[in-house]
Amino acid sequence: MRTVHRVLAIGAHPDDLELGCGASLAKLTARGVHVRALVLTDGLRGVAGPVRRCEETRNALEQLGVTDVVQHRLPDTALPTMQAELIKLIEAHSEDLSPDRVYTMFRDDRHQDHRAVYEASIIACRSVPQILSYETPSSWPNFMPVVFEPVGDHIAEKIAALRHHVSQRDRTYMQASQIFCSAQFRGQQVGLGPSEGFIPYKLAL
Ligand SMILES: [Zn+2]
Repeated sequence: MRTVHRVLAIGAHPDDLELGCGASLAKLTARGVHVRALVLTDGLRGVAGPVRRCEETRNALEQLGVTDVVQHRLPDTALPTMQAELIKLIEAHSEDLSPDRVYTMFRDDRHQDHRAVYEASIIACRSVPQILSYETPSSWPNFMPVVFEPVGDHIAEKIAALRHHVSQRDRTYMQASQIFCSAQFRGQQVGLGPSEGFIPYKLAL
């Protein structure tokens, strides 16, 4: 199996990465893999009051052992209108980091920013041997993973990380029980313990 040394994890908004592949990122960083988290928008659309979503996601990612966090502030919900810029931006990170694996969003998703990030990622990261899409609460019901990462105790780190998202804490999908049940469900589909599931765009072994 190909050894992974550097990972680029791409999310449209603060919290996408933690929800989609947080436990896997914690597992990777615990092994000494360099993970760069690329968060593309500030996630402030529709959020009222003095909310610090960028700070929340930075703290959450640090909880997962990710210290290389790059926060861009592209306009939330408007990513489909700036596809060329998005590709260029992600491409710069891909060339700079030269990752062995990319985690990105899923092609079939209710949120237009998530779809835009997927499209831009597969173009910008075309030279990366492994591109995996992660699941989010807005992924379509046809998200049927075929790659699974058993995360063991790292699920607790994911739950702890999500607690940093104070502004989102009332959302159903942020509850610890929900996170744990989802991981158990994905794992039991293939006879594993708590796991995160992925759909590969490509997976060079
Ligand atoms: Zn999102």
